[in-house]
Formats: sequence, C-alpha cells, structure tokens
Amino acid sequence: MLQEMDPVERLTSGFERFKKEVYENDPTLFSQLAQGQSPKFLVFACADSRVCPSVVLSFQPGEAFIVRNIANMVPPYDQTRYSGVGAAVEYAVVHLKVEYIVVIGHSRCGGIKGLMSMKEDGTTSSDFIEEWMKICLPAMEKVKAEHSALPFTDQCTQCEKEAVNISLENLKTYPFVTEEVEKNTLKLIGAHYDFVAGSFGTWEI
Ligand SMILES: [Zn+2]
Repeated sequence: MLQEMDPVERLTSGFERFKKEVYENDPTLFSQLAQGQSPKFLVFACADSRVCPSVVLSFQPGEAFIVRNIANMVPPYDQTRYSGVGAAVEYAVVHLKVEYIVVIGHSRCGGIKGLMSMKEDGTTSSDFIEEWMKICLPAMEKVKAEHSALPFTDQCTQCEKEAVNISLENLKTYPFVTEEVEKNTLKLIGAHYDFVAGSFGTWEI
C-alpha cells in the first residue's frame, strides 16, 4: 500500500518508475527539452490531488505550462496582489508564446463549495482561503440568483463552471493576453473535468 510506504522511499521509487518508463524511453524528447520548452498550453487547474492535468489529459513533459491553485482561479490584473499568477501568465504568454490558455474547473471542488458557503455579511474565518475565493464571488452571486431552486450540490456544479467563466474574463484584463487574443494567436478555453461521471467538456469564449 502506498500510504504505508516511507515517504522518501515513495518519492524515490516514483522517480525510478518515471525514469524507466518515460525518461529512458524517449531520449529524443528529453534531449530536446534540455534545450528549452515551447508548450502550446497554459493550464489553470485546481490544487486538488484528484485533478492533476498531466495525468487527466495525458500531457507529455514540455506540452503544458501549468498553474495550480485553490479552485483554479485567475485573478484580475493587479500588480499589487496575486503576483504569482500574474508572473506565470506573463511568462507563458509573452515569453513562451503559448497558443491556448485553458482554465479547468472540476467536480466536487472544495474551494467552490467553500465559496458557495461564504457568509453574506462578508465575515471570514480563514487567514487566506476566503480572501482568495472572493475572486470568483460574482460566480457565486450569479448561481444563487439564477439557480436558487437547485439542490446545493447542483448549485456548486454550476458555480464550478461559472467560476471558470470569471477567470476567462479576468484573463482579458491582462493587456498582453488581450493583445494576442485580438491577433488571433491566443485562444481562451474553459473546461470542466467531472471525476464522478468520468467526463471532460470544453467551451470557448
Ligand atoms: Zn478544486
């Protein structure tokens, strides 16, 4: 059982398996990657341990520049906050010249459930989490206004998708993103991965 394994042994054996099955299997790829990367995708995915995009979408090394955070959110352009996300978007778009930005929401997202459960008076009880989740507050408000008759779990599913739309709109507040979108050299894609149903859907804006 993996859980019972010594953590260092787990890491070492995991790397050994990767080295044998992937790294040594494709020396051409890894010698190319030693020279540089030119991924086509910038992917935003949740930090949730069940939704690793490289696993779910079979990305090979070098294919996708990936940012993972709580509930796969892209905050609006703001040089005083969220610089970790801003730097990643700038690097991927300006320097790597990715062709697609994909924001992937997912089923049973704890972050989205937390957003949907936030107190209406704005009081918070966490050091960072709720402040971060507020990025997608408009998604929560939209779902509560339009889908109040739905059971709470279905409202959360709607919000997982609406939050992706907020992030896609937020991406357009980055001038270097808008510039490439207008030139048609960059596309913004929304996606939702449902690991309960085993399905994956995309949409473009
Ligand atoms: Zn999540």
